[in-house]
Amino acid sequence: MAKLIEGKLVAKKILDNLSDEILFLEKKPCLAVIIAGNDPASKIYVNSKKKKAEELGIKSIVIELPENCTQQEILEKIYTLNNDDSVNAILVQLPLPAHIDTKEVLEKINPIKDVDGLHSYNLGRIASGNKPYSYPCTPMGIIRLLEYYDIAVDGQNAVVIGRSNLVGRPLSYMLLNANATVTTCHSKTKNLAKITGQADILISAAGQKGLVKAGMVKKGAVVIDVGINRQQDGKLCGDVDFWEVEPDVSYITPVPGGVGPMTICSLMQNTFDLYKIQNRI
Ligand code: NDP
Repeated sequence: MAKLIEGKLVAKKILDNLSDEILFLEKKPCLAVIIAGNDPASKIYVNSKKKKAEELGIKSIVIELPENCTQQEILEKIYTLNNDDSVNAILVQLPLPAHIDTKEVLEKINPIKDVDGLHSYNLGRIASGNKPYSYPCTPMGIIRLLEYYDIAVDGQNAVVIGRSNLVGRPLSYMLLNANATVTTCHSKTKNLAKITGQADILISAAGQKGLVKAGMVKKGAVVIDVGINRQQDGKLCGDVDFWEVEPDVSYITPVPGGVGPMTICSLMQNTFDLYKIQNRI
């Protein structure tokens, strides 16, 4: 039977420590979130980020813009936040409305306030094996889970399904920087099962329910499921067929309660880390 990787528990431990550190700060860190449009899932995510920040003593500002806002309006908000010394961290909640050029928006965030690590400066630092101001939150959360459970990465075959800038691509580089031998798969990958079957560490971030099945996973592998999909009964599930795969592997994350809580945890930790960098602590 596999050992469950309990992201919820690990995140709580990390955030309890963070809360203690923030308690002693005279001036508190500040996270600003920009949300544009009416996507219900985005609203839920932003509310839970705000709630978590406030629980920890992090000041949080939420800037809401309508679905029909212009590119210029978003850029002006970013410009204001970049120049506001009381704001340490800026997050743009994705996805933005379809008419907005997301790439340009992310590029306008000052990299030293880029709490999600999606600016090309920060992604480029990771790709070149250097330290960014912030690592993207989900990949960082996954690396922390591997560290917490003492799962060796050095020399291991790691397979990442997904190549988005948000998850798969930075994660692949972070695993490479940690000396894994990394294969990144995507929708054009041929023989996915053959590749995943060689993974010591398999991470799926495709957003495809039932993508990873029992025959695709090496015996004893570590399986991290990033996917968030909705089942017919409305419940959440990942990309991995948990009950099929679990008997064959050594570690596995549940969905929900695995990677998700670690993403929020990294967001809070990144906010604090940017605060420290900006205040030279
Ligand atoms: P994207 O849609 O941006 O990227 C999905 C990636 O998966 C793409 O690279 C795509 O390939 C690849 N892919 C899709 N279908 C297949 C397939 N059948 N076989 C192989 N590769 C495939 O999604 P994100 O990276 O933003 O998110 C991925 C998943 O993770 C989603 O379910 C999302 O909800 C979840 N997520 C969870 C978080 C958490 O905290 N738990 C945080 C962020 C995301 P191609 O590039 O060729 O299109």
